[in-house]
Amino acid sequence: MLAASLTACGSTEGSSGSGGRPSIVVTTDVLGDVVSTMFGDAADVTVLMPPGASPHEFQASARQAAELREADLVVVNGGGLEAGLTDVVEAARDDGVPIHEATSTVDPTPGVHVPGHEHEHENGADPHFASDPVRMAQAAKGILVDAIRLEPSLDTKAVRDRAGDYLAKLAALDSEVRKILAPIPADRRLLVTNHDSFASFADRYDFTVVGAVIPSMSTADSASARDLARLAATIRERHVPAIFADTSSPARLADRLASDAAGVKVVALYSESLGKPGSGADTYLGMVGTNARRIADALA
Ligand SMILES: [Zn+2]
Repeated sequence: MLAASLTACGSTEGSSGSGGRPSIVVTTDVLGDVVSTMFGDAADVTVLMPPGASPHEFQASARQAAELREADLVVVNGGGLEAGLTDVVEAARDDGVPIHEATSTVDPTPGVHVPGHEHEHENGADPHFASDPVRMAQAAKGILVDAIRLEPSLDTKAVRDRAGDYLAKLAALDSEVRKILAPIPADRRLLVTNHDSFASFADRYDFTVVGAVIPSMSTADSASARDLARLAATIRERHVPAIFADTSSPARLADRLASDAAGVKVVALYSESLGKPGSGADTYLGMVGTNARRIADALA
């Protein structure tokens, strides 16, 4: 009896989940949707960032910081995306909470620099891997494996069925995106984005990232007048048809660049966060489909 009660104690300690379900705290709403869909009722999933949040700049409330420290598992995007959450995530890690970084099981993306490795040939895991549904499937599998390793009670037929269905949907999404993008001619497969957020998409679907309004992985950085002048020149020289702004950042600079070059459109993509309910981009599947259609409409 003693052993049994100790075990029961151990399995619920640190869990804020109800009914003995493991509690999983996820940082971004994009990964939150993926994790919630895979685990369904088998886990209590808490998502920190609301739709429209900037993952680079978002900061946790005191209540959210406490939730992180009480979780059975914390899932972060990783790759430096959630710069504003570094301290609270590290505090949870110090408390012994397992932290899963989604980028840890994602294929590197050519041209993405690995922080701390100064050599150009070392490709890193893209913090914006979510632009590519194939890399998202790699991340989803990694989360599933780690969650089951830490909470073997999650390895049920129901969870495996749900996750299997979702991985099949991600594979179908990749095929759908290829079909949507097929009409875009090779010489118009050019991307200028708000910041460096579509490298994995470009790698997967044969686009070239010509430049970014903010030449950085993070919206927390800024563009110099020289950066902007150089980008404006590139847009004119390469006849770039559109500048892709971001739904969770102001498009002021993109609008100014477009007004400097005749015929250039500004189109907003969901690169950082899901859309509001009813937007058609309020799930990860909807977000990727919406982006592909907007890119095809702008460039085909
Ligand atoms: Zn970003």
